[in-house]
Amino acid sequence: MMKSIQSMQNARQTCWAKFFTLLASIIIFSEAVGTQSPWQACPSGIRPHKKTCVCKRPENVGLAHKKVIEYYENGCFDKELADVVTKAKRQFAQPAQHDNDAVIFDIDETVVSDYCNVKSIKFGFVPKLSHEWVMKSAAPAIPAMKDFYHYLLKKGYHIIFLTGRHHNEFEATEKNLKNQGFTGYDKLIVRSAANKNLTAQEYKSRERAKLVKEGYNIVGSVGDQWSDITGDNVGQNPVKVPNYMYHID
Ligand SMILES: [Mg+2]
Repeated sequence: MMKSIQSMQNARQTCWAKFFTLLASIIIFSEAVGTQSPWQACPSGIRPHKKTCVCKRPENVGLAHKKVIEYYENGCFDKELADVVTKAKRQFAQPAQHDNDAVIFDIDETVVSDYCNVKSIKFGFVPKLSHEWVMKSAAPAIPAMKDFYHYLLKKGYHIIFLTGRHHNEFEATEKNLKNQGFTGYDKLIVRSAANKNLTAQEYKSRERAKLVKEGYNIVGSVGDQWSDITGDNVGQNPVKVPNYMYHID
């Protein structure tokens, strides 16, 4: 009998010991979880709500670089772009229906390419380098897009270039477009100093609203970023040009 009571007391003590060990573990774990990781402290870092965060593992950036280079340089990108242009030509098969029908074009990665420059810095966007490249007026035309541009001109559409490039890059941009065979457009609109802090979508929506006020009937927008073809007055025929190098909000 005594032995049985002793055994029960030992079991109870073991049980309490396990409970306190578990409790201590939970406290230590909670403190560890509450410590902010370096990447969570970035000034502009993304902080998704914990409850809605889908913790899908991202791809290794180095491997992603290689895949992007392969895709562009082994002909796959050209094939995708050719399909986009074929579809876009079907969208604009009818000639312009009104004298004021206009299509808005973005510039970088839409009609000219910065691929070699962006590849040289392993992709991404560095404002200082981007400005230096723009000032050289040397970005080559994207052949499939140049073909689409001239297709629209022949159909009677007004073409307006609306770019995120800055006001001090206007002349260099104009020269680049001319050198690459982009003539016959109505306007080239660059970002003014006053629009410096607007998002791409806000800035482009604002400029398109001005064009509508001037009398243009915008029937389509063409660009490599979603911000080129979404927002106000984009027209009923958006054309999304592929870009796997960078993203602009
Ligand atoms: Mg662009």
